[in-house]
Amino acid sequence: MFDARQVRRDFPILERRVHGDRPLVYLDNAATSQKPRAVIQTLVDYYETTNANIHRGIHELAEEATARYEEARGKVARFIGAREPREIVFVRNTTEAINLVARTWGQAHLRPGDEIVVTEAEHHSNLIPWQLIARQTGAVIRAIPITDEGTLDLEAARRMIGPRTRLVALAHMSNVLGTIHPVAEIGRLAHAAGARLLVDGAQSVPHLPVNVVALDCDFLAFSGHKMCGPTGVGVLYAKSELLESLEPFLGGGGMIREVWIDRATWADIPERFEAGTPNIADVIALGTAVDYLTNLGMENIRAHEEELTRYALDVLGEIADVRLFGPRDVRQRGGVVSFYVGDVHPHDVSTVVDRDGVAIRAGHHCCQPLMRRLGVPATARASFYLYNVPEEIDTLARALQRVKEIFGGVGVG
Ligand code: PMP
Repeated sequence: MFDARQVRRDFPILERRVHGDRPLVYLDNAATSQKPRAVIQTLVDYYETTNANIHRGIHELAEEATARYEEARGKVARFIGAREPREIVFVRNTTEAINLVARTWGQAHLRPGDEIVVTEAEHHSNLIPWQLIARQTGAVIRAIPITDEGTLDLEAARRMIGPRTRLVALAHMSNVLGTIHPVAEIGRLAHAAGARLLVDGAQSVPHLPVNVVALDCDFLAFSGHKMCGPTGVGVLYAKSELLESLEPFLGGGGMIREVWIDRATWADIPERFEAGTPNIADVIALGTAVDYLTNLGMENIRAHEEELTRYALDVLGEIADVRLFGPRDVRQRGGVVSFYVGDVHPHDVSTVVDRDGVAIRAGHHCCQPLMRRLGVPATARASFYLYNVPEEIDTLARALQRVKEIFGGVGVG
């Protein structure tokens, strides 16, 4: 049985008090997750017992470090249902993974007038890399609109994805609206048009069972730090035949086969895309995070978050003057709840609730085009994970009542 109260004990930081003696209510998981003891301990163990550079040294520590690094690759591959570990490239984060695809695949395949289809809800990480490569290649960016309910306009998507489309790049789950986009269906449209599908899994891989074969995505990008792993390690999954066809992203040690002064040949995948000394300790600790999530069961985590989200939508929805964004049906969304309290600026909301120990986020969440679509400069956002419990949502609701008391005159009645 999944028990969030039991899970909480694995996370030392959740015992922390803030602002004097307030228990920490951490509802900023879409920004980054907390780390279980096992992940922290993996980092300590690695540096205390195994630290060495990988893939080169012929000594015991180097061999052990290499084995553990490659073992983590295997764990990540199994976690997302990849066919083989060499389809996993370790990078710094989702942002770097998407830039890697833009600079390698995009550079090779985009021509003037070719279309890159994104959505209005994209994080800047899945927009700016395409803008940069579009400027260089003459490709054009188009965005599938979002409906008033906060879902993808599928009719518009069907009209937009066509013979000029080379790539469809979209978030699996929106980091503002929580909407889970029908990426498999979008992928079928993309593939029927001869285009590739890139899925930004930054918000989905930590929270839902994700299988790259079922989604039939060509690329999947995600970050370790949002899934109980350390900062500084992310993943690019790509189908092996696609990776094999690509030129390197960064050049240097580790990614070559043979080098002359004026030319070189490339290593096999995935090493071809991992130039220089990689983030060995954090990759190994990401492997521990994957074990941790796998042991608890991604279905259980998803079910727990669905319950929390349903509860949050009910409780926050009952507060007069609180405007909620995103779909109301929890099967269509994850545990990210954006809201607005009267006319109070989200930064003020966030500052007031912080005094009660509640950590939420306020701002444009790196989604300025979506903010324009929603007609707001920013939103306040509470986002849940496996260790959150309903009482924490009650604490948030009480804190929002205080916001209303404090800002009584500013459009809240
Ligand atoms: N895409 C989405 C949907 C995200 O939520 C985030 C993180 N907020 C990113 C991309 C970027 O992740 P990172 O900063 O780890 O590269």
